[in-house]
Amino acid sequence: MKDHNCLRLATRPMESAACEAVLRKLLDATSSGSGAVRELLRAIQSTPLGKDMGIVCTSGSDPDDERTTTARAYFAADALSNPNPRPPDIVLVATQLKSARELEHALVHELVHALDHVNGMDMTQCDALACSEVRANGKVECGMAVQPWSAIGLACGAGGADSRLCLALRRRCTLQSAVRATGNVFGPDDALASVHRVFDQCHNPAL
Ligand SMILES: [Zn+2]
Repeated sequence: MKDHNCLRLATRPMESAACEAVLRKLLDATSSGSGAVRELLRAIQSTPLGKDMGIVCTSGSDPDDERTTTARAYFAADALSNPNPRPPDIVLVATQLKSARELEHALVHELVHALDHVNGMDMTQCDALACSEVRANGKVECGMAVQPWSAIGLACGAGGADSRLCLALRRRCTLQSAVRATGNVFGPDDALASVHRVFDQCHNPAL
């Protein structure tokens, strides 16, 4: 299984049952759940590779599995070259999540990676992972997860989402976050080079 993680540590853990309850609500198409989750899931499930993708909460940190001790969530899938791949999974690590809002953000971030994977992006390659991190961080960490009182939140709130300052701050945030996330897997130098190489083609401020 190939995977990567790129998410920050949380401080106050969520119980596994709470993780499952929040997840159920987000996935419930008839509830007031997350539009971003529904939209991404629909796109993923319309592909052969993504139609049986699983989304699960894991009960806690397994000291033998680094992904569950450092990431809020991760995406796991067989290599694209595998002729008989198992369905991919998004795993939410309950003990690394502290709120429903944080769970939604972690899920949307991983759904962007999942969509890129089922569309054939080979994230064992640095440029492909860099592109996917630009997309995921631009949408979540530098978009929907931005706090209203942060510099980006204030600029985008006062000037509007299309204002020059808002776009510039989100662009800088996305670049830096994508370099950090890609660097967790490929190291900072390769990550910096790859993110700069793919940024303009992968960055979509409208996402
Ligand atoms: Zn990521």
